[in-house]
Amino acid sequence: MPITIKGTSASPGIKIGKAHIYMGSNIVIPKYKINKKDIDNELKRFEAALEKTKKEINAIQSQISDNLSKDMANIFSSHLMVLEDPMIADQAREKVKDELRNIEWVLNDISVELINSFSAIEDEYLKEKIIDLSDIHKRLINNLLMNDSSDISRLDKEAIIFAPDLTPSDTAIMNKKYVLAFVTDKGGRTSHTAIMARALEIPAVVGTFTGTSKVRNGDTVIVDASHGKVIIQPSEKEIEYYKKIESEYLNVEKLLSELTHLPSKTLDDSEIVILGNIELPEEMELIKGHGAQGIGLFRSEFLFLDKKLPDEERQFVEYKNVVECFNPKPVTIRTLDIGGDKIYAYRTQYTERNPFLGCRAIRFCMENLDLFRTQIRAILRVSHYGNVKMMFPMITTSEEIIKARSIVDEIKNDLRNEKIPFDNNIQIGIMIEVPSAALNSDQLSKYCDFFSVGTNDLVQYLLAVDRISESVAYLYNPLNITVLRILKLIVENAVKNSTPLSICGEIAGEPLYTMLLMGLGYRTFSMSSTLMHQIKRIIRSVSIKECEELAEDLFKLETTEAIEKKLLSTMKKKFPKTFV
Ligand code: PEP
Ligand code: MG
Repeated sequence: MPITIKGTSASPGIKIGKAHIYMGSNIVIPKYKINKKDIDNELKRFEAALEKTKKEINAIQSQISDNLSKDMANIFSSHLMVLEDPMIADQAREKVKDELRNIEWVLNDISVELINSFSAIEDEYLKEKIIDLSDIHKRLINNLLMNDSSDISRLDKEAIIFAPDLTPSDTAIMNKKYVLAFVTDKGGRTSHTAIMARALEIPAVVGTFTGTSKVRNGDTVIVDASHGKVIIQPSEKEIEYYKKIESEYLNVEKLLSELTHLPSKTLDDSEIVILGNIELPEEMELIKGHGAQGIGLFRSEFLFLDKKLPDEERQFVEYKNVVECFNPKPVTIRTLDIGGDKIYAYRTQYTERNPFLGCRAIRFCMENLDLFRTQIRAILRVSHYGNVKMMFPMITTSEEIIKARSIVDEIKNDLRNEKIPFDNNIQIGIMIEVPSAALNSDQLSKYCDFFSVGTNDLVQYLLAVDRISESVAYLYNPLNITVLRILKLIVENAVKNSTPLSICGEIAGEPLYTMLLMGLGYRTFSMSSTLMHQIKRIIRSVSIKECEELAEDLFKLETTEAIEKKLLSTMKKKFPKTFV
């Protein structure tokens, strides 16, 4: 029976393939009903997992015995006893037959029941047994699920990755050549996994809550990421239907790619600049190939995934690669934005209650001046080799930008003394992604050369909605009228002070928002390559006047729902093929 699950569309596209579950350090118990004809297969899986688990324990035991650690060997003897206890195994087999539930579900229930009844008894021996029971239970379930978490970097055939969540380092080490799509239990549209998926042009559905518990390794799966839909064990009819849609999708992509070298101009001849967002340097060719006019956001976090900090030379080489690839087009390198959902190995010592409101981005850099100075030096040095801009994330007050600039000036002096070349006129800008910066953009413009609006964070901080939480995802909506008002205010302040302005949050790369943002006055968009062509098509098919009229109409509406409905229906009418 096909199982359909819904989530948030994080990166568009349609893929059909086999599931590969990657649990990291988490185990989620899959719970599904089976058919009578599947009973034998289910019991065979159980026997095989029992055998495998016994073998593993015997192997561990003999190693320990060789080392004469008898106490430990005894622990594993009792693990074996639990495993061989006919009461548990027989009960599991019976339940599979009678209740037609999968073996992992049944085993989990038996083990929880036993643990609960043992826990009620005050007996040290039984308390020990509880630990044995839950250890062996985990080992058995892992074997049933054929979990081999370590193999994500060694993926050697095409697969659809199901995971509770994916950390930036998981995505970085993954053998992406074989990744057809991602499906994660957690996350929202602007979580790191989603951004990474878009950057790599891998279709993704996030925030499915239950994906990993509904699927089995090797199941055939359809991922309709454009609609946030996943079908596990689809019927032949569904496979056929989606194969057709997949090939239509690829045809549209091919047609759109003809836009790459055409100008990004509206019908009334206004130029709209399209820049790229880069997460990993390997994306630069993809972005260039889509005709981007430079890089509006080069996230530098990828360099800080390991425990070992990148030194100046390593950073210099990585940045130079991208800068030279785009020269003479601009590359905006953003200094480290650590914290929030971008927490890396060496940062665990700073566990915080509210990481998004804590020592993140520029705040972290100010606390770790050596790290900050090293990065600024590398960026300044690289400015000699192309058109480089430097950008600071999460600026909240003017003091922060003043202080950051004074550090840049000190380092410029050092470089001058050391006779190391750099661009003395390097443009220094800030992300506008905190409400205080947006409201105060008028004043902040005095201290910087450009603004880039980060709506991913701006929406989260303005609406007090965690951007990665699937449970409050319904509130995370850039079409909330307060967001639109603040976006308009930023444009007004930028225009008044002649501060160059771009927008680099995820909405800049989503066709739904293109006309609206142009109507609000945005003229420079920075985005991942995924939908660059679609966005250019929209730009080339509309006039600024009609975009302004649309924005005006939306401002008359009160609720987010009404705004969304009106915007979607307008876009659907104008671009029926893009907004199906
Ligand atoms: C943003 O907040 O919109 C942004 C572009 O930055 P990031 O997603 O890296 O926080
Ligand atoms: Mg941000």
